[in-house]
Amino acid sequence: MKWKDIERERIQWLPTIDTHKCTGCKACFEFCCRSVYQIEDGTAKIENPYNCLASCSNCQSVCPVGAISFPNMKKMREIIRELREKLLYKQNKKMEVNIWM
Ligand code: SF4
Ligand code: SF4
Repeated sequence: MKWKDIERERIQWLPTIDTHKCTGCKACFEFCCRSVYQIEDGTAKIENPYNCLASCSNCQSVCPVGAISFPNMKKMREIIRELREKLLYKQNKKMEVNIWM
């Protein structure tokens, strides 16, 4: 799966659950339409981390006890910009090689 031409697995944008706070209310599980969450043994678990839409953090606000957190958005944007620059550099290099062949 790709996001803005970058392999999704390279973008560490994932929810983290504070299991000490989580009450297992299922609000996050029912809210997220991308099957990121699962409820096991009365606690939310991240079942499909890379299904999480990079830069979405909507489920954070549905948790009644504030158990869901996300990485720093500004830092994530910087990481994505760096990854895209590297990708563009590689693509340009490939094009250069093709032109001269
Ligand atoms: S941030 Fe969005 S996509 Fe990711 S788990 Fe929450 S609701 Fe689902
Ligand atoms: S919404 Fe919060 S408290 Fe409810 S299951 Fe999800 S993480 Fe746990």
